[in-house]
Amino acid sequence: MHLSIVIPLKNEAESLPELEAWIRRVCEQHRFAYEIILVDDGSTDGSWKVIEQLKTANPAVRGIKFRRNYGKSAALHTGFQATEGDVVITMDADLQDSPDEIPELYRMIREDGYDLVSGWKKKRHDPLSKTIPTKLFNAATRWMSGIYLHDFNCGLKAYRGDVVKAIEVYGEMHRYIPVIAKWAGFTKIGEKVVEHRARKFGTTKFGGFERFINGPLDLMSISFVGKFGKRPMHFFGTLGILSFLIGFAILVYLSIAKTIFKEYGIADRPLFYFGILALIIGTQLFLTGFVGEMINRNSATRNHYLIEKEI
Ligand code: UDP
Ligand code: MG
Repeated sequence: MHLSIVIPLKNEAESLPELEAWIRRVCEQHRFAYEIILVDDGSTDGSWKVIEQLKTANPAVRGIKFRRNYGKSAALHTGFQATEGDVVITMDADLQDSPDEIPELYRMIREDGYDLVSGWKKKRHDPLSKTIPTKLFNAATRWMSGIYLHDFNCGLKAYRGDVVKAIEVYGEMHRYIPVIAKWAGFTKIGEKVVEHRARKFGTTKFGGFERFINGPLDLMSISFVGKFGKRPMHFFGTLGILSFLIGFAILVYLSIAKTIFKEYGIADRPLFYFGILALIIGTQLFLTGFVGEMINRNSATRNHYLIEKEI
């Protein structure tokens, strides 16, 4: 199969028929063997009924229905597990992404050899309350990840089939899939300017304030787990030893001052408290490193490495 199109959706019943018809038209025109995987993320508006109807009319449609709302990341992850295509394309269900982009995205993966191509909504049709925070998000993500994309959180993306099987998206990490892919070793990441349209039906599902807190936290988790997930002691141990040594040196110095130079009242000096604090924090960090190692020892991903080739 050439192409799997994964579409996470929550309460998008009105958009689905138009979206399916449009994708079908594009895929038939280009003679793609394709499937459309619609992941219903706990809709309450009859989206699933619509999916069932689409399925009877077009066997290329597949539906997965969550029992409740788990979030866009969960829907994408589950859709990814189900894909069979050589190329996987994700898009939002709200008709903001145009299926006309599919053939060129497919070509970039197959012929230009990209692992991942991210859409760039250069001209966005969203309110300022979304576009301004997004600019900050993208700048911070570029800076932390070293990936020079303009638009990390574009719903329209294309992947080589094995990429989506190898990465794990959870929490609200769909915003940072290129970063996850990079940490997994898929470094050929490209970008394509895509058409973006105003939402035709329904309302945005990401208008809340939480995204300003959850987003940066997820980015920190991804970076940390990517770098130290398999060796937590190297992170916590280094910081712990550093802090411990600083505290130890301070207290040795103060002890010498007291016993040899008879300087009394060292307990009144701020340095004294700083020394003790550094010693305690150092020990704590070190123990955290041990706990991290013990958790890692029992984790299923401990010796999980992605092998690119074998001969
Ligand atoms: N979505 C989802 N689960 C959720 C929230 C959203 O599957 O919990 C889907 C939604 O139906 C849409 C896509 O994720 O297909 C992007 O959501 P939305 O258009 O609301 O985000 P925006 O474009 O406003 O950033
Ligand atoms: Mg949208």
